[in-house]
Amino acid sequence: MTTQSSTTRRRVLVARPRGYCAGVDRAVQTVEKALERYGAPVYVRKQIVHNTHVVKTLEERGAVFVEETEEVPEGAIVVFSAHGVSPAVHEEAAKRSLRTIDATCPLVTKVHNEAKRFAAKDYDILLIGHEGHEEVEGTAGEAPEHIQLVDGLDGVAGVSVRDPNRVVWLSQTTLSVDETTETVARLRERFPNLIDPPSDDICYATQNRQVAVKAIAREAQLVIVVGSTNSSNSKRLVEVALDAGADASYLVDYADQIRDEWLDGVTTVGLTSGASVPDELVQQVIAHLAARGFGEVEEVESVEESVRFALPHELRKDLRTA
Ligand code: SF4
Repeated sequence: MTTQSSTTRRRVLVARPRGYCAGVDRAVQTVEKALERYGAPVYVRKQIVHNTHVVKTLEERGAVFVEETEEVPEGAIVVFSAHGVSPAVHEEAAKRSLRTIDATCPLVTKVHNEAKRFAAKDYDILLIGHEGHEEVEGTAGEAPEHIQLVDGLDGVAGVSVRDPNRVVWLSQTTLSVDETTETVARLRERFPNLIDPPSDDICYATQNRQVAVKAIAREAQLVIVVGSTNSSNSKRLVEVALDAGADASYLVDYADQIRDEWLDGVTTVGLTSGASVPDELVQQVIAHLAARGFGEVEEVESVEESVRFALPHELRKDLRTA
């Protein structure tokens, strides 16, 4: 345990907003309600949201997570995750007569629709995002012949287009706002007539959590982000905290992963969580820090959030007739 004078004021600044966004809340509730309505097992393609704790908890209740629809028995119920799927996955599910519930976040669907619209007009689409991320695979699958992935600044040089006057950029919803602005500026140096998306693709929740972590990182020596290593928006929070002035920032799934030496010499800890993290995990970190002398806790609110999404219509219909 860290050794500091008992007179030192040690505090925790907790960012707000943090944790669950409307899309994650809806996706998790979708699996919970499906389990209640249809009983276990309910199959879920990929992790419903990128959080170890959430996935483990749903597994205990009877959800079965699979990588691909071919692992789901014919005719069974399968939920598609918040990150979205390509049309090929829908086709595969139909071929196997699966009953699908699509928990794709409406803000991811919005990007899919933009991709379809620009592809129909024969534009080249530059999709800024992380290679291999499920959301990017789903969006790119809407129009593979029109979309090329730009994985950050390093990806800009490799882009080639058919007509520099018919190029649009879109993005993954969970990127760093600042880094994406830089990537777009570089793309625009190459393609001055590059078209912007009709509205922000980086979603409100990602943006708000980045604004909120900046506000606490300026005053904290250490910023702890609760989130899983496969969570894009959580990893971005660590980077944004470091860019905003924190000396150190770490991603942890659980409070017991916090190493005591991280707290050596620290008087102010910043704390936040990714959009797929239930708040009970943040409360456990607060208790862990309190036991180490960081008893003063202050919430720093940067933006008020009130976004909510209705459950997927196919599930709502079945719940109504239950
Ligand atoms: S992070 Fe944004 S896009 Fe992803 S589920 Fe949440 S609201 Fe939707």
